[in-house]
Amino acid sequence: MTRLKIRNPATGALIAELPADDAGSVAAKAAAARAAQPRWAATPLAERLAVIGRFRAGLVAELEPLAATLTQEVGKPISQSRNELNGLLARIDFLLAQTEAAINAEDVFHDGGMHEQITHIPLGVVANISAWNYPYFVGCNVIVPALLTGNTVLYKPSEFAAQTGVHIARLLHQAGVPAGVMQAVIGAGDIGGALLEQRIDGLFFTGSHATGVRIAQVLAPRLVKVQLELGGKDPSYVRADADVKAAAASLADGAMYNSGQSCCSVERIYVHESLHDAFVEHVLATVAGFKVGDPMDAATYIGAITRAAQLDVLDVQVADACAKGATLRCGGQRLPGPGNWYAPTVFTEVDHTMELMREESFGPIIGIQKVRNDDEAVALMNDTRYGLTAGVFTRDEARARELLARVNAGSVYWNCCDRVSPRLPWSGHGDSGIGLTLSTHGIQTFTRPKAWHLRQP
Ligand code: NAD
Repeated sequence: MTRLKIRNPATGALIAELPADDAGSVAAKAAAARAAQPRWAATPLAERLAVIGRFRAGLVAELEPLAATLTQEVGKPISQSRNELNGLLARIDFLLAQTEAAINAEDVFHDGGMHEQITHIPLGVVANISAWNYPYFVGCNVIVPALLTGNTVLYKPSEFAAQTGVHIARLLHQAGVPAGVMQAVIGAGDIGGALLEQRIDGLFFTGSHATGVRIAQVLAPRLVKVQLELGGKDPSYVRADADVKAAAASLADGAMYNSGQSCCSVERIYVHESLHDAFVEHVLATVAGFKVGDPMDAATYIGAITRAAQLDVLDVQVADACAKGATLRCGGQRLPGPGNWYAPTVFTEVDHTMELMREESFGPIIGIQKVRNDDEAVALMNDTRYGLTAGVFTRDEARARELLARVNAGSVYWNCCDRVSPRLPWSGHGDSGIGLTLSTHGIQTFTRPKAWHLRQP
């Protein structure tokens, strides 16, 4: 059996070796998931809810060791690993509270002897191929509602967060999810590819645009339902009337939290010329206060870069911006290893000829561009193939709503950023993906509506 090596990105040290799947074991797991599905779907919802409630309790009981494992395998600061786990508990609470209403039969018409009804039936076997940057969030956004609605799940965590994936599967089994109902599939992209070859009824993916497109192409001939949660180049605009200090603090955090490795990290900032210089000074002061270092230290705000390959992407963006005339205000280089480290980086005098303002950075790096008015800001925000989130900072709510209505993005923010709510759908426009998770829509997405036309004899 092959083994998957896990390295700590903060030190480069080998920290674990996990037994990995191969094509044969993936096929066996898919067969087990298929066999287990009818019985799981027939299990009363109350029992499925109880199981997920026990899973939640297991997460609470092990929160500290789970947070430590996450930090050690992805380099996320320990305070942010704890935040992710606590955030997951809130998501589970929402799903526990809302699933029954979301999948109840709906009586939509009664007229004499004619009755029309919609029921929500599980898709069947759901595959979840997942990213490493928020493995509890992106894994459980799929796994938990899929299980609650009666699907069986094949879950391939990222090879960079595989220990977390194994813990999620273990805790679900400990909570009473039968073995075949939820199975982790361990390995890298080739094992993700093997999963696509199986008979599945839905594929829910979180990861890069390139991989998402490849997956959609593989599954298209079989007409398998596909959802893709992909990258972004999320903009925010600071209007002339904004609270400049509050906007700077919020956006510095939105750009650098999780070392900039969030799908909804702020990746571009546009600032009205009247407050540009003051804004930049506040951002620089905030960033200077971010402690970079040992991710296990509770005071650390910026940890390691999870994938070494991303350091090359950051280097290229920095060199390209410098060559095209941007002003480097801080950072702009790797920090000494061992491990993968990048200095928090701020550029001004940027424009859309630069990769920094066009391609996902996925690191602690941000460009700030001066604009003359609202229309220019909206045009620049929409000058992207992505559309995950976008924000506006202003004291004027009506104006914020007007501007945000014109922006192509799945989620829009007024005076906030880098925020996900279990109550709201999480979705992207354009190259940020198709489909959604979270909210009651993100429960129903794991079901098919079945239409009943019932005439009394
Ligand atoms: P990735 O595309 O490299 O990998 C994602 C998953 O796909 C991994 O599990 C990987 O093993 C698997 N995979 C790779 N090649 C495959 C193939 N040919 N067939 C099947 N599976 C394959 O992405 P990543 O580096 O893990 O994640 C970072 C990306 O995810 C960023 O672009 C980020 O913006 C995005 N992301 C989006 C959201 C969202 O909600 N929109 C959330 C988190 C991350």
